[in-house]
Amino acid sequence: MDADKVNTNLSDLSLEAAPSHDDVTNPGLLVDREDNLDASDDVANQMELQLSNDGSDNNISSMNANFSYHESQKLIQNNSKHIAVDEHDVNSAILEQPRHASNLSTESPTTKKSRTLSASAQHTIPEPPRPLWNKEPKVKKETTLYKMGMLAEDAEQQFSEDPSPELIDLYSKVQECRDLRTKYQTLSVQNDNQNPKNKPDWKVYPYPPKPSYNADTKTVVPVFNKPDVEVFDFNQCEIPGIDEEWDFGSNGDDSYIVHKAGNPDDLIADIPTLRDYYRDLDKMIGISSDGPAKSFAFRRLQYLEARWNLYYLLNEYQETSVSKRNPHRDFYNVRKVDTHVHHSACMNQKHLLRFIKYKLRHSAEEKVIFRDGQLLTLEEVFRSLNLTGYDLSIDTLDMHAHKDTFHRFDKFNLKYNPIGESRLREIFLKTNNYIRGSYLAEITQQVISDLENSKYQNCEYRISIYGRSLDEWDKLAAWVIDNKIISHNVRWLIQIPRLYDIYKKTGIVQNFNDVCKNIFQPLFEVTKDPRSHPKLHVFLQRVIGFDSVDDESKVDRRFHRKYPKPSLWEADQNPPYSYYLYYLYSSVASLNQWRAKRGFNTLVLRPHCGEAGDPEHLVSAYMLAHGISHGILLRKVPFVQYLYYLDQVGIAMSPLSNNALFLTYDKNPFPRYFKRGLNVSLSTDDPLQFSYTREPLIEEYSVAAQIYKLSNVDMCELARNSVLQSGWEAQIKQHWVGKDFYKEGVEGNDVVKTNVPDIRINYRYDTLSTELELVHHFATFSRHAVEI
Ligand SMILES: [Zn+2]
Repeated sequence: MDADKVNTNLSDLSLEAAPSHDDVTNPGLLVDREDNLDASDDVANQMELQLSNDGSDNNISSMNANFSYHESQKLIQNNSKHIAVDEHDVNSAILEQPRHASNLSTESPTTKKSRTLSASAQHTIPEPPRPLWNKEPKVKKETTLYKMGMLAEDAEQQFSEDPSPELIDLYSKVQECRDLRTKYQTLSVQNDNQNPKNKPDWKVYPYPPKPSYNADTKTVVPVFNKPDVEVFDFNQCEIPGIDEEWDFGSNGDDSYIVHKAGNPDDLIADIPTLRDYYRDLDKMIGISSDGPAKSFAFRRLQYLEARWNLYYLLNEYQETSVSKRNPHRDFYNVRKVDTHVHHSACMNQKHLLRFIKYKLRHSAEEKVIFRDGQLLTLEEVFRSLNLTGYDLSIDTLDMHAHKDTFHRFDKFNLKYNPIGESRLREIFLKTNNYIRGSYLAEITQQVISDLENSKYQNCEYRISIYGRSLDEWDKLAAWVIDNKIISHNVRWLIQIPRLYDIYKKTGIVQNFNDVCKNIFQPLFEVTKDPRSHPKLHVFLQRVIGFDSVDDESKVDRRFHRKYPKPSLWEADQNPPYSYYLYYLYSSVASLNQWRAKRGFNTLVLRPHCGEAGDPEHLVSAYMLAHGISHGILLRKVPFVQYLYYLDQVGIAMSPLSNNALFLTYDKNPFPRYFKRGLNVSLSTDDPLQFSYTREPLIEEYSVAAQIYKLSNVDMCELARNSVLQSGWEAQIKQHWVGKDFYKEGVEGNDVVKTNVPDIRINYRYDTLSTELELVHHFATFSRHAVEI
């Protein structure tokens, strides 16, 4: 290349560089503006931030406008044109900017003072200070190294500079919120390593199926595994005796507490009170709606996305080649868990239709329902509807939710009624009815047998406890145990509908405390003495935790400044989401402390959250819950989204369900969350309403793969996420995703089982560790300041 050509190249560059800088920054903001009402606020905030800064920003912007010219002069002097041309590749421009800015600041005397960059400029400084594989040489395996282009070695600078007070303040706030979450999670025994069922000596009964593949000899071993339903025998279950040491009662907030028998003041744990909780919640809401904090988090998230794009651009080929070389394993035979599916909608429509027709043919004379003072047979029910088996089709069943349910959760709820008739729902889709749920049990057995045949798909079914009477738990447990709805492919979550206002209106309960009592008293009784409810004890071993469900878009009106405790909540209005969640949390926390002491499995909170309504729900769940479902509203609260990223809170997302209810498929933030590294999984929500095929989970993955252009590696990573988020016992997870799955980074990955290349895991781990190190580093600055 001759000197003239260099000049042309560099002058091109000097003309292009400034506009390309704008181009790179703007698309992100604009794209976000399309689907993000608050994005315009963020842009405004950033602009404000820049305007309000004293002059140093002007230096930077003028630097940006000029630097290519200056730099080109310098480069010509240094004769290092090749590097310059490579570096100004438009694709990597977004990551290169900060380096240019800081390089220049050391060169130009006029901008020397911007060694300490303004807050807004520092936010964009992206590079990992010390990549972790440098710190620990033993991890430095060839297979884990990924490319990130030519990046400057100026990372140390982030740590050695005197940080601006704004930055220290922002990071301290992040740290404060994270500390709150840790406190609430640990107190309620929700961390995976606190749960006795994850200990090596935990007995899973019936025993897990024997593996049919020997990894050492690489051969298939013929094994015969009986289905769990044939193995399971209730009489084989061990039922422990009474615990004389501890007892339970309730405190001044009407939360359940556990105390030493005979001494109500000696508590098993100090659970935060209602007042503490609302104070912490208000504090976090205050922080997350603060302008500078929002734009700070927004920038960090933009950076994470840009970093992913660069990673993907440079490493896609290597990822694919690793997974091609991986024997036997592909997307179809990696384990995946449907992390969010409602049990009463777990079958698809065609399946339900066939089942109804079958029953009409073979059990027409069976008495199935008690209505208006008389017992009706199935045939009489259909006669009263003016229908025969022949008339029935998917269209008459009318349970699909596609067009008429958008933003109409009320209409969606009606879709649970076959042919729009609540009596058919009662007969076919309830566990507690005249036929004691035998039809639903039968159809569940069929769904489970499909799951067991497919082997690699597993479901966490959500099943209701309403809180209308004290015997609901026993009835549900008896339904599961007596019908032997037991399978290694299935675990249960208990969903609590937020329907106090309806029970109150119909006179079933007097106040909110009645609901809490109906939900929790049996659980404390069975923990104190499992022999008092033996079936419930055995059922609870298969229960992972609690969910809170209903229409989130209903307005939470704050008609009290200070909320009354449940026994004083006699109003007709429903308590707000945050209040429901607290009362689930506080009693579960005491219960878990007790269960952990007794060596019983503990329960977590995994509520529906951020599907619609107030984004405040997400803050509440961040503190109290182990994971959430949906979370699509996180796109409107960048600070909270950043917290969900840092703590890797599990989010079970269902874009197909959102598409029918709250957000069209193309606007779903799922692909963004995934790129940024949030801990997301795919789930079906309600196959009965949303799916067309016999494999709803594969359908969900397949639509996502096509619309969002997910690669095979992406899908396998999502499947791995779903296993890690799920509530299966550690020894089963070990079999599914690798014996060291609980370890961080590459050490926790077993590509032979997960089909996710080590470089992908290493990239995610490095990126997250860097963010966490930054938070720690800057937040500690503020602690020093306080100490001085
Ligand atoms: Zn749901």
